Amino acid sequence: MARPVVKKKYTLGERIYLLEILKGMALTWKHFVFNVKASFRPGPHTVPTCWQYPEDRTREISPVYRGLHMLCLDEKGREKCIACGTCAKTCPAHCITVKKGKRKEGEEDKYAGKMYCASFDIDLLHCIFCGLCQEACPKEAIVLGREFELAQYTREECHLDKQKLLANYRKAKEEGKLRPPRKAVPVVPAPPKPEVKGASSKATEVKKGQVEVKKATKKAKNAEKAKSGD
Ligand code: SF4
Ligand code: SF4
Repeated sequence: MARPVVKKKYTLGERIYLLEILKGMALTWKHFVFNVKASFRPGPHTVPTCWQYPEDRTREISPVYRGLHMLCLDEKGREKCIACGTCAKTCPAHCITVKKGKRKEGEEDKYAGKMYCASFDIDLLHCIFCGLCQEACPKEAIVLGREFELAQYTREECHLDKQKLLANYRKAKEEGKLRPPRKAVPVVPAPPKPEVKGASSKATEVKKGQVEVKKATKKAKNAEKAKSGD
């Protein structure tokens, strides 16, 4: 429904505009003086509204930031991935390809599970960094790290294979940029359903009625058969 337009009544000062222009200029000068003063302060980022990237890399990244992918190793240095393919199925951009391999005897120190990923590929040009692969992984093997400098010169460089993914993990570990492991969420059993008064008696009544109807139809059929036999 259309709403009536109510025209605001301006004061004489507002209609002249001069006062409003002066107010606007005062605000502009206030910010200008503040920034000039701040630029002389010691510190890596001198102007508070600007970060001098890439010279200044001291800015903290949000703990929930989703950056470059990595394939994690467990505390014994074994590959966590069991090639279940859940991440590939979950990925909305269909940019993950996993091929599985079976662990042989003597490879227990390399792979944590009986199955492992023989190849693991991610096409970063399709990835939307939604993090669903990370959420879906039952082994916390694939993780989106904190690396944010993703620009490359060729398409090939935007293709992550298993070796690059493992290298990303090792690099993040060396630099101390690994995320802390996720906290296990305790499974709370569902509360028992409240009993509805009279619900059980109603159900038995319905059942009784159904049995009676069945009996009556059987009787009618038998009577019809007897008649046709006469
Ligand atoms: S972050 Fe999202 S789009 Fe990228 S690989 Fe994982 S699930 Fe696919
Ligand atoms: S990364 Fe996780 S979800 Fe993906 S195949 Fe490996 S174990 Fe399965």
